[in-house]
Amino acid sequence: MTKKIIIANWKMNPKKAKEAQALFEAAKEGARGVKNIQIVVCPPFVWLGILKSNVQVKLGVQNCHWENSGAFTGEISAAMAADSGAEYVILGHSERRRYMGETDEIINLKIKSALKAKLKAVLCVGEKFGEEMSIVVESQIIKSLAGLSVNQMKDVILAYEPVWAVGTGHNCSPDNALSAGLFIRKTLTKLYSRFLAEKVPVLYGGSVDDENDNAYIDQSRLDGLLVGGASLDAEEFAGIIKGIGR
Ligand code: PEP
Repeated sequence: MTKKIIIANWKMNPKKAKEAQALFEAAKEGARGVKNIQIVVCPPFVWLGILKSNVQVKLGVQNCHWENSGAFTGEISAAMAADSGAEYVILGHSERRRYMGETDEIINLKIKSALKAKLKAVLCVGEKFGEEMSIVVESQIIKSLAGLSVNQMKDVILAYEPVWAVGTGHNCSPDNALSAGLFIRKTLTKLYSRFLAEKVPVLYGGSVDDENDNAYIDQSRLDGLLVGGASLDAEEFAGIIKGIGR
């Protein structure tokens, strides 16, 4: 049985190191005894060094630069993140596309750099309110994965995150998430093969909580969840872990 993946995106939270440690320890506690589940917590870079991952709860980051090192003031490379304990990186998140002007071309460079640094790359795709899911998602996938080999795709995870559902409390219906997941696999089949498309984990993210979490696994037949706001509430996040782990 393949493990379900739950990724916590803490965004720019919490404000204090002690809070970060407590939240991380609570995730580890919540995961105790839960089977068939991989949890990945993505804190702000500054907390990486103080959080001790284990087999069940790994560390990731929310961004990286596309170069290994050099004159890029304020940036952090994938290699640095990996050396600080990260094993995953979220790339193409809608907040970075919106506030930092990240394009699919930049995201493509970042994915390549992440894979070189042996990080697993979690590529976020999704349409804004009023946009056609298939048009946006197909284009984001084609451009963001350009030039990636079949072998490199072993370390890529897709996350369907409709922009209108991220941080809004308006989660996507399980039926729509099912359609998006199937569409993502169809696009990967066209680019690579059906075999590969079935192997790449596809997650859902957008206002997931302790109530709606299971529907994305059972009804939408997805491989896991990307959780923002609810991952900052220790009890709620533990509830999601237990609900999916069962
Ligand atoms: C996210 O940050 O990727 C996310 C899905 O946020 P939220 O769960 O708060 O919608």
